[in-house]
Amino acid sequence: IYPTLTNKTYVVMGIANKRSIAWAIAKTLDEAGAKLVLTYAAERFKSGLESLASELKQEAILLECDVTNDEAIDSTFRSIHEQAGEIQGIAHSIAFADKEALRGEFSEMTRGQFAQALDISAYSLTAVVKAAKPYFAQDASVITLTYLGGERVVPNYNLMGVAKAALDSSVKYLANEYGPHGVRVNAISAGPIRTLSAKGVGDFNSILSELEQKAPLRRNVSAEEVASTGLFLLSGMGSGVTGEVIHVDSGYHIL
Ligand code: NAD
Repeated sequence: IYPTLTNKTYVVMGIANKRSIAWAIAKTLDEAGAKLVLTYAAERFKSGLESLASELKQEAILLECDVTNDEAIDSTFRSIHEQAGEIQGIAHSIAFADKEALRGEFSEMTRGQFAQALDISAYSLTAVVKAAKPYFAQDASVITLTYLGGERVVPNYNLMGVAKAALDSSVKYLANEYGPHGVRVNAISAGPIRTLSAKGVGDFNSILSELEQKAPLRRNVSAEEVASTGLFLLSGMGSGVTGEVIHVDSGYHIL
């Protein structure tokens, strides 16, 4: 019952390098036959992404899209529609916070750091969904990546925890608004995975070892495991699910 996504267009946003969760999602969608559009934040990621994309079975379309720029988001989605038709799904795997606000005392962050983190890590989901609205397939599906630090206090996650809380809430409001159009919106709450973004979180190693020692499965999760749940939510297999946060974290969140 592995889903077939042949001739369906999926947009994967947020590949920085081969460790990115978005890259695992792209590979999984590619395996399932999807036509992929990969968006990257800035010119400096382009050549790295081109060489990663050459490993895919299908040829992908690569587009630059800085999610702090509304015009860039609109033109990216217009261009996706022109080049690849209707959009079956979007994987939003984007976040940013100044690393100074991801360690030490929570209240030491600045107004500027708060605004930037919430803009890139939470508002961008709504901006993207809004821009894609005219081009969604009738049963389209959107996923984003969140983390437990938005539901409860995780040491050092600080500002990003507030951003994830806003993101989780956005998922529910978007699911409610877009549901009548047939579009589903869900989040995957991934356990800690060593990526470029994760490096910014103070003492990330102890988050990994805490999970390994205490989670029901007694091990960390891989980006590929997150991607399999992504495939489920993005394909018809997840057709009855919206507004949900699925934890792919070895069960750590139940403790
Ligand atoms: P990553 O650094 O590989 O991915 C983050 C991506 O966000 C990068 O590709 C970066 O270019 C992009 N980005 C930042 N600012 C942007 C902008 N202005 N416009 C467009 N793109 C921008 O790290 P990752 O861990 O794969 O992160 C992906 C998602 O997964 C994030 O939302 C992250 O919070 C979430 N997540 C990660 C973990 C983990 O432990 N790694 C756990 C749970 C959730």
